[in-house]
Amino acid sequence: MQEIEFRSAHHLCVETDPALCEPCQERLDRQLALLPRVYGELEATLVPAPDSGDRETGTARPGIPLNGPAVEARAAVRGTLASWADLIVEGRTVRLPLRTVPALAAFLRRHLGWLAAHPAADDAAADIDTVLRQALRILRPHSFSAVPTGSGAR
Ligand SMILES: [Zn+2]
Repeated sequence: MQEIEFRSAHHLCVETDPALCEPCQERLDRQLALLPRVYGELEATLVPAPDSGDRETGTARPGIPLNGPAVEARAAVRGTLASWADLIVEGRTVRLPLRTVPALAAFLRRHLGWLAAHPAADDAAADIDTVLRQALRILRPHSFSAVPTGSGAR
């Protein structure tokens, strides 16, 4: 998986204009492109690695989610994408996408230009940034130690 360029100069367009500037739109687009893969990687952390042929003991129960933070991060990713997709559906009278992360992310990317001009665009960018960072902190705890937490994003 490619590394993501999160520059430390983490800027959101909150103070300037409700609409997103070009760099913020591009960053949001990259984040949306990344989220389905991140979501899939989180899923891989849920099921314990297959035990080496020791099925009889039955200590590990395959299929039972064991990683609480990953479960929460996945729910946050999906819920956030779904709620912003709802805004687009209401605002544009377009059809609701499938409620899967890849479909929701693709839908948001398709309507990014519209979303970026919406008064809530900065909130959308902040939400999506937050859930992506939360997910990446679980997947790559060491690469994100320098990222400030709770940077005022709602
Ligand atoms: Zn901006």
